[in-house]
Amino acid sequence: MNLMVQFSKSGLLNSFISAGRVGNEDSYKRFERLSETFTWSAVILGVLIIQLPFGDNLNKTAIYFLAGGVVLFAFIWYHLLPKKFSGVTKRFIYSLITIVFIAAIVHYTNGVRGYTIFFYFLSSLSVAMTMPLANTVFVILFVGGLIYLEAFLMQGEVAVNFSLATLHFWALILIAFYARLESGEATLAKKREEQITLDKEKMVGKLKDEFVFIISHELKQPATAIKGYIEEIFSKYSNTLGAEAKEVLEFTDINSTRLSKLLEDLLDVSRIEKGSLKVNSQDVFLKEVISEVLSNLFFDARNKKISLIQRGDADTAVRADPDRLKEVLTNLVGNGVKYTPEGGQIVIEVKNEGEFASVSVSDNGIGISPEDQKHLFEKFYRVENEQTKSVKGSGLGLFITRNLVEKMGGEIGVNSKVGVGTMFYFKLPRYRW
Ligand code: ADP
Repeated sequence: MNLMVQFSKSGLLNSFISAGRVGNEDSYKRFERLSETFTWSAVILGVLIIQLPFGDNLNKTAIYFLAGGVVLFAFIWYHLLPKKFSGVTKRFIYSLITIVFIAAIVHYTNGVRGYTIFFYFLSSLSVAMTMPLANTVFVILFVGGLIYLEAFLMQGEVAVNFSLATLHFWALILIAFYARLESGEATLAKKREEQITLDKEKMVGKLKDEFVFIISHELKQPATAIKGYIEEIFSKYSNTLGAEAKEVLEFTDINSTRLSKLLEDLLDVSRIEKGSLKVNSQDVFLKEVISEVLSNLFFDARNKKISLIQRGDADTAVRADPDRLKEVLTNLVGNGVKYTPEGGQIVIEVKNEGEFASVSVSDNGIGISPEDQKHLFEKFYRVENEQTKSVKGSGLGLFITRNLVEKMGGEIGVNSKVGVGTMFYFKLPRYRW
């Protein structure tokens, strides 16, 4: 029953067609190395073997001559042709040239009545197993034609010669057919395995994303609670706390804020990957949002003596989610503060550009190399060098920022020069009244 299913028409056809389909460049290079080894061994063994007393008349001079031809051909083919050429066409041409050599060898070694006819089987077998169907059919017919031609050219009774030729041709077809089925089955099995591995990897990826989402979600509540308690202690017991206790509490507060932000970022990453990130776009005045973000970052900037400067078309309004827009600006200006040495400056500039409004955040900080710029907006990407070593971060900020801007119908980019500074800019659809 199983066998019946396996050999059902479509299964059989599928195997038959699939043989030789995995042929990528790498596997063809491998075939070439194998063929080269095979060719050298066949020539050496062949020359030795024809020294045996076969009892038939072998035209040894012609065979030596042909063996020399094969050696020359193999040398040119494998060592003088540029290595970069490989693939179906090269292998196909190689097979046809080899078959012509085999035809000559067969001709000088008793034709269809001789033993060297088995060389045809070998080369057809290898073509059937490793090449596409059309090439295989062509090769089988080509070899068949050569066998019948040989039968025609041979001396002796024509009917016997043709019967032998037919027998060989039939054997050739059977061998090619069977080899194709077997190698097609192997190809299909390999493909199925690859598909299963791919499915498994996808599944594991999904489970991992789900896991991160659930964990972040569960941890968010206690993290928020801790932050609440710290604030409560500050407000209620501020007067009674000693300097050391206050310092510890401040430190705890900073870290719990970082923890909450990290959890919120992880949740956003999960939402982005699931495609469930939502933005609630409305008309927003950029001035208000920028002022709020700058006042939130004022203390961080002041600690590093960095000046925050606002420029440009103050009355511009955009279509955006106000909270998400704040997040975008906080990430960009916050990064400016983090990656600009003491005494630097950050300029936030708004420009009207027709249908869009552009906001740029420029600093005169450490800058980013062209290579790192290519990866900046990838998940978890952080530039690693002496200057960034001591700056804390998760590498999620710009990934989320890019996705938020795009979700709000805009685009984001960066210009930067190491040691000079960085400018991030984004555009959003303008609101006009
Ligand atoms: P992080 O949490 O590490 O800051 P981001 O995604 O916000 O993650 O930024 C990714 C990396 O880009 C940072 O690690 C930093 O090396 C680099 N970077 C971002 N903004 C700037 C900037 N204004 N100047 C220099 N480097 C920056």
